[in-house]
Amino acid sequence: MHRTHTAGELRSSDVGKKVTLSGWVQTTRDFGGMTFIDLRDRYGITQLSFNEELNNALNEKARKLGREYVIKVGGEVIERSNKNPNIPTGDIEIRVEHLEVLNESKLPPFTIEDETDGGEEIRLKYRYLDLRRSPIQQKVILRHRLNKAIRNYLDENGFTEVETPYLIKSTPEGARDFVVPSRLNENEYYALPQSPQTFKQLLMVGGLDKYYQVVKCFRDEDFRADRQPEFTQIDCEMSFVERDDVLSTFEGMIRAAFKDSKNIELGEIPKLTYAEAIRRFGSDKPDMRFAMELVDMDVVCKGKGFGVFDQADKVLSICVKGGSSYTRKELDALTDWVKRPQIGAKGLIYCRINEDGSYKSSVDKFFDQDALAAWADATKAESGDIILVLSGDESKVYKQMNELRLHVADQRGLRSGGDFKAVWVVDFPLLERDEESGQWHAMHHPFTSPKPEDLQLMESDPAAVRANAYDLAINGMEVGGGSIRIHDRELQQKMFKLLGFSRDEAQKQFGFLMDAFEYGAPPHGGIAFGLDRLAAILAGTDSIRDVIAFPKNNMGRDIMIDAPSELNEEQKKELGL
Ligand code: ASP
Repeated sequence: MHRTHTAGELRSSDVGKKVTLSGWVQTTRDFGGMTFIDLRDRYGITQLSFNEELNNALNEKARKLGREYVIKVGGEVIERSNKNPNIPTGDIEIRVEHLEVLNESKLPPFTIEDETDGGEEIRLKYRYLDLRRSPIQQKVILRHRLNKAIRNYLDENGFTEVETPYLIKSTPEGARDFVVPSRLNENEYYALPQSPQTFKQLLMVGGLDKYYQVVKCFRDEDFRADRQPEFTQIDCEMSFVERDDVLSTFEGMIRAAFKDSKNIELGEIPKLTYAEAIRRFGSDKPDMRFAMELVDMDVVCKGKGFGVFDQADKVLSICVKGGSSYTRKELDALTDWVKRPQIGAKGLIYCRINEDGSYKSSVDKFFDQDALAAWADATKAESGDIILVLSGDESKVYKQMNELRLHVADQRGLRSGGDFKAVWVVDFPLLERDEESGQWHAMHHPFTSPKPEDLQLMESDPAAVRANAYDLAINGMEVGGGSIRIHDRELQQKMFKLLGFSRDEAQKQFGFLMDAFEYGAPPHGGIAFGLDRLAAILAGTDSIRDVIAFPKNNMGRDIMIDAPSELNEEQKKELGL
């Protein structure tokens, strides 16, 4: 028998028991006559003790054990004289009577402890060693619990998990496809799904009614921090539903997921329209953990002779509570920050509300105390606060203000801590225009239905058409999105036409879906959540790599198995490449 107990479960109530444990040697503390070993497994760490007076040979054997040796020990649980309150097994140790080396280990390239000295690349190369570290294991286990909570909820609510194919034809979700050459069909290629979108809609035509799948999706995007070329979605679809049916079903799912995996009460999730989210936060995925909302300053800022404001499309501000204590240096740093090319603002204007109620702004020449009082009024600023103002093109200044709002909140510690605030954002625009080509693109995807009341604008004013689409954001991150779909051939065709597809192209690429719509397609809608992102949020980490067992690096490489890699000539020939 390899073990009677794990390395995480023995307590003082077990003192006197004879036990057998197996695991890895995390550290050896060699005091000559006495040796202490921390034995580690997935469940924790247990101290082993060896004493030359009791058994000299055994103590000598223990002294020679290297880090990460796999051992099996037998002995008696005894009370520790030097207790360690930091670990659950800290009251006891095993006085070892038998020691067997099950496998030796080379010296690992980094220390396998909660805090490690290994950089990210080396840890990715030896991911199987990094996985031995408790902080990584805990995240993988949390992901499992999250996954299980979601599956339970969907199962209890009548959803059927259906697997859809991985070797398919391109689905446009806004990224490039990964392609797979077909050996049997020379010069033809499969695409890996960017999502199972068209299949889940066909499952609705097939009468499955409620579908879900925990599914890998593949998107060949340019490298960006924290993007993985393959990622996991919780992909869902329902028939005979309207938007609010979908939202309430999945609000329930997210609440159950938070409750069951981490005992967090998420509470009721508010809804914001896209227009309102942009107006109040400058973002379609606002972080709702703090207020600091955007205030439109056009009325109080324009027409006072200050050219920058007068020529701007839009003047916006935020009021930072307690911000009048910003030093000159801090304000200069903030100004430099908004002027960086990533943000692109021309400058930052401020107004302090002093403790005595007077105002001190960076534009006192143009704005007297009364004019600044109007700023304070508009922003509800009080003594001790500061108003930060940006101006410029409407299309840019909302985005810039969103960045500034988040940056200031980061600096002031408003985005840390363990609280979770979710928000639904609804009524997205149906289309967005590519600035260079002038071509319309679907903001969500081409299968998203316009809101019925906006249908008549599709030809006359496409920009004004709202989609029956929704996103879920948590703490400023998009974690899910979906829509009510088009289920009518004619409307789908109209949509493809708006997106610049010829009738033939649309038929060639999506004829199968439009044909299916002609055989009694039910009204349907759905949503997909990013499992990696959700798990990262729950685990309190910024990086989705932390919650993926075998992630790729920022260049999309798996440096452990060394992929992607070249094919040999014979393989290429066979594939006709
Ligand atoms: N297929 C969509 C996506 O991957 C989600 C959906 O519309 O259900 O974003």
